Amino acid sequence: MIKIGDIEKILPITQAILELLDWKITPAIATQTQLRELLKDNDNNAEEIFGAIIAHDEFRTAELYIWDNLDTNKYHQTLEHIIFHECIHIILQPYDKLFKYILEDESPVVSKYLHWGFSIAEERMVNQLADGYINCLRVTQTPK
Ligand SMILES: [Zn+2]
Repeated sequence: MIKIGDIEKILPITQAILELLDWKITPAIATQTQLRELLKDNDNNAEEIFGAIIAHDEFRTAELYIWDNLDTNKYHQTLEHIIFHECIHIILQPYDKLFKYILEDESPVVSKYLHWGFSIAEERMVNQLADGYINCLRVTQTPK
């Protein structure tokens, strides 16, 4: 079971690395059902949702939700990976908003299709960046 204290230890380090120290990010633990409810508008068809972030650009505040059973995930994703992943979404939020704005003139079908494609591409990119971060940690923390 993930505890708030586990997130509180990692979050400031992640914020420092991503230069997000001017953001007030409030951590929370959530069940799989709560995470699905939070992300219901995102066409999320993932088997398991590991985390979610609700960011408020104008106030530089965010709520970071981490799955309570993350430590049992079959992909062995670490808490560091998920926190890093969710915080990258803060950086990308202006692009999400821009993309939604561009799609406003499209038909609902085209808009839904393009948004779906954009979301998948963005998730892949965010995962790749988070994997890179974890690889960096492994390289720098391996005893010589
Ligand atoms: Zn994501």
